[in-house]
Amino acid sequence: MCLNHNETSLNPSHFEDSDETNVPAHRDIEWNEYSELIKGMRFFDPHIHMVSRTTDDYQAMYQAGIVALIEPAFWVGQPRTGLSSFKDYYSSLVGWERFRSSQFGIKHYCTMGLNSREANNEPLAEQVMEILPLYIYKEGVVGVGEIGFDDQTPAEEKYFRLQLELAKKANLPVQIHTPHRDKKKGTERSMAIALEHGLDPSWVIVDHNNEETVKSVLDQGFWAAFTIYPFTKMGNERMVKVVEQYGPERIMVNSAADWGISDPLAIPKTAALMKMRGISTETIQKVTYQNAIDAFGKSGQIDVSDFEQGLESDHAAKFHGNSILRGGQQPIANKNSLLIQ
Ligand SMILES: [Zn+2]
Repeated sequence: MCLNHNETSLNPSHFEDSDETNVPAHRDIEWNEYSELIKGMRFFDPHIHMVSRTTDDYQAMYQAGIVALIEPAFWVGQPRTGLSSFKDYYSSLVGWERFRSSQFGIKHYCTMGLNSREANNEPLAEQVMEILPLYIYKEGVVGVGEIGFDDQTPAEEKYFRLQLELAKKANLPVQIHTPHRDKKKGTERSMAIALEHGLDPSWVIVDHNNEETVKSVLDQGFWAAFTIYPFTKMGNERMVKVVEQYGPERIMVNSAADWGISDPLAIPKTAALMKMRGISTETIQKVTYQNAIDAFGKSGQIDVSDFEQGLESDHAAKFHGNSILRGGQQPIANKNSLLIQ
């Protein structure tokens, strides 16, 4: 009883008017329990921060059917000390990390932007705005993101607006990070500002939704992305309920896995849970694969023939002379195998 009460107060949006308060928000599933359920399915994770993840993650993601992903530019966990660290980070998103991902058989895309948290350092934010146009037109950049609000300050709003204009000019979709505090207000405000700037809502992906925000996001014509958080907030059991209630149109699931406690396999696990709950494979594939392609594909940067039959990865390839192989290791010349001897 006590636990439930606690959980409800942490998640005030959790089915407030339903009688399902005993339903857990999340269920962890082991590979041997779900591998059969997702056999043959392909997944696209439209929000994951791979620079923070290990090679084990890449291998597990590939094994679970993740064929492509989008890595949004965000913050690194501590304030950057200058413009150079932004440059190096942006360069890695279109350079080394994309190469690294390809070596594990996963097609890598990214979104470019100044994250809301660092928009509050205005002198640095000004400099970042000057270099952003150098990166958003690079190959593999499928949007401007993740941008939006964190603490909902005037500086955040200023740089959010400037980047919406940048996206319009570059003809790129926008990936909006909605705040974790005061979410409903921040989400409404983000959408109102996007509309004010004349953005077509079908070019805007509103991320980190929950039961409290989803209806308004869909009603206004935006894409509604959901991050599966293993321990708090939006768990996979709650995601199943959202899809049962709203169907698959304009809804997509992501892991937002980063340097914090998070799960890079959130999508395949959620797909398996949907399957267990009787949701059709067609619906599952829309929310875990196709919708992300349709939304971010507006950038003109996504060619599904690159990955739908599995990415051809050249393990002998190097990036600026660097390889993922360590001394003495030999790549196995089999595109279905990622094992290295
Ligand atoms: Zn993120």
